[in-house]
Amino acid sequence: MFLTYACRLYPLRPQLAILAHHLFELTFLWNFSLAPRRDAWQKEHRRVTYLDQQAHLKEWREFDSEGLGLLSYDVARDGLQRLDLACRAFFRRIAAGERPGFPHFRRETQSFTFIPGGSPIVPGTGSTWRLKVPIVGELPIRLHRPPPVGGIPKSVTVRLDAGAWFATIVFAIPDPPPPSLSAPAHPVGVDLGLTALATLSSGERIEAPEPLHATERKLRFEQRRLARKKRGSRRYARQREKVARCHARLRRQRRWHAHQISRDLATRFDLVAFEDLDAAELREGCRFAKSMTEAGWGLLRQLTAYKAALRSGRCVRVASAGTTQVCSHCRRWANPPMELGDRSYSCPCGLTMDRDENAARNILERGLTLLD
Ligand SMILES: [Zn+2]
Repeated sequence: MFLTYACRLYPLRPQLAILAHHLFELTFLWNFSLAPRRDAWQKEHRRVTYLDQQAHLKEWREFDSEGLGLLSYDVARDGLQRLDLACRAFFRRIAAGERPGFPHFRRETQSFTFIPGGSPIVPGTGSTWRLKVPIVGELPIRLHRPPPVGGIPKSVTVRLDAGAWFATIVFAIPDPPPPSLSAPAHPVGVDLGLTALATLSSGERIEAPEPLHATERKLRFEQRRLARKKRGSRRYARQREKVARCHARLRRQRRWHAHQISRDLATRFDLVAFEDLDAAELREGCRFAKSMTEAGWGLLRQLTAYKAALRSGRCVRVASAGTTQVCSHCRRWANPPMELGDRSYSCPCGLTMDRDENAARNILERGLTLLD
C-alpha cells in the first residue's frame, strides 16, 4: 500500500526563483503542446499522441536550454503526460457520446511531479529534514514524522498553494496484515455532531480547536472587506489574494486536525464505526458545523479508514437513519421524537444521557452487527 507524506517547503531565495521558473516553463510546455493537438483535432479530426510529442522533447530541451532545458527531463515528461491524460479523458468522453470541451490553455500551472531516484528526504542540520528536488537542490522542509523505514519513494509532487509551497511524497510500503477475524477488543462509535465535532460512544467529546475558529473568523472578516471593495480595482485584487490565503490556511488546518483525530482513533481502537451521514442533512440540520464541512467529514472518515488499515484495524460505516432517535439501552424509539435543540436523551427505561453519546452508542452497535 501507499503512504503519503505532505509537508511544507521553505525554499531559499535562489530556490524560489527556480521553482517559479518550473511552473512558468510547464505552463508554456502545456500550451505549446496543446496547440498542435487542438489543431489536429479541430481541423483534421486527427489525434496527436503522447509519443509523437515526447519524440520532440529532447530536441526542444536542447534548443531551449535556458528555458525548458533547465528543468529535469523527468519533470518535463510528466508535464507532457499530464496533457496526454487530459486529452485522453476528452476522447473517452467523446466516445461515450458526451460533448466535452477540448482541454484548455493555461494561464498558470500550480504543481509539478517527478520520480525520485533514491530517497528524496534527507536529514539536514540538527533534527531538520530536506527534500531533494532535481535541479532545484535540497529544500528545507518541515516533517511531522520521519520517513518510513523500508518505504520505496514513488513520486514527489511540488505544489504552490496561495503563495506557499508544499510537497506530497508517496512511498510504497509492504501491505499490513489484514484485520484479525476475532471480535474487536476496543471498538468505538463516532457521532459526527452538531455542537462537538465528534462524540465517542465512550462519552468523550472532540471539539474544534480554537485556531480553526480563529481562521474562520478571519476569513469572514476578510470576505466582508472584499465585498466592500470595487470589483476590478487593484485593492480588490489584493484583498482577493488575502481571502485566498485564508481559505488555503483553513484547508490546511482542517487537514492537520483531521490527521490528529484520525490517528488518535486508529491507535486507540481496533474498530471505528462512523455514521453514513447525508451531507445535505447535516447542512440543513445545523448551521454551526461550519468548522467541519461536508469535505471535512469525508476527509476524517477517509483518513481514519486508511490509518486503521495500516494498523490492521477496521473502520466501518453504518446507516445513519434514526441513530439519534433510538434508545441505545432498550432500542425503543423516542416519543415524542428528539428535536434538534434537545441536548439530552431520556427514555422511560431509565436511561438519561447526552444526545450525541446515545447516538454514538447506536452507531457502535450497528458497526458491531456489520461484522457478524
Ligand atoms: Zn430505553
